[in-house]
Amino acid sequence: MAALARSELEPGADTDTAALAPRAQAPTVLYIAGSGRSGSTLLERALGEIPGFVNVGELVDLYRRTAAHDERCGCGKAFADCTFWAAVGDRAFGGWEGERLAAVHGLQGRIARQRHMPRLLAMRLAGRDFRSDVASYGDNYASLYRAIAAESGAACVVDASKWAVQAPAPGSTCG
Ligand SMILES: [Zn+2]
Repeated sequence: MAALARSELEPGADTDTAALAPRAQAPTVLYIAGSGRSGSTLLERALGEIPGFVNVGELVDLYRRTAAHDERCGCGKAFADCTFWAAVGDRAFGGWEGERLAAVHGLQGRIARQRHMPRLLAMRLAGRDFRSDVASYGDNYASLYRAIAAESGAACVVDASKWAVQAPAPGSTCG
C-alpha cells in the first residue's frame, strides 16, 4: 500500500506526505516482455551495463520464489544476505516481512495472469475488487522500483520479468 512507502526524497517525511508523493517521482522502468528464453538475458545484461541503468533480472520472481524461498541473488548471496536487496526492502517497505511478501504474492496470483489481460486493458469495465487489487499491486511495484533506483543510483530500472500481462502495472516505461 502506498501509505507504507517511505519518501526517499524527503527524509523524515511522515507517511501521509509520502502517500501523496506524485507518481512522476517514479524512476523510468524498461520492461522486457517476451516468452521464454528469447535472448532477453543477454539483452538485460547488456542494458544493465549502460551507465544509469540497473538490471534486476526477472523481478516477478522476487515474491514467488526468490524472497519466499531465500534463493540466490545474482550477486551469489542468498536473498536474505544480499545487502542490496536488504536496503531496497528497508527503503520500500521497512523490511521484507513475510506477511507482506505473502500478500503481494497473493495479489500477483489474482491479477497477473494471462487470462486477465482483457480486464487489465479495459480497467473501467473490471469489478471494484479487481481494480483495487491492481492498484495495490501497482503501488507495491512503484515503491519497489523507486527503492531500487535510489539504492543503485540508476535512473532506469531494467525488469526482465517477461510476463506481458504484468507490463501495464508499473505505469511507466523508458521512452
Ligand atoms: Zn545480491
